[in-house]
Amino acid sequence: MKQLTCHDIGVDCDMKFVGESEEDVMRQAEEHAAHEHNLPVIPPNIEKKCRAAITDISTNSSHGTDTVTSPAA
Ligand SMILES: [Zn+2]
Repeated sequence: MKQLTCHDIGVDCDMKFVGESEEDVMRQAEEHAAHEHNLPVIPPNIEKKCRAAITDISTNSSHGTDTVTSPAA
């Protein structure tokens, strides 16, 4: 999973985007920028900044095969 927040790119906004891929995150970010930040088209330099700021996150909610955090039921 990938994650990006507006804060990551220096915007004073706590919006967070999570997606399966960088493209997925970017799509959400573009839509959000258009609606919330009056930025219908993301300039190349901002897009670059966004992509650089996207981080990998791990979620362990979809598969039960990981050997971590299993409090006895
Ligand atoms: Zn924002």
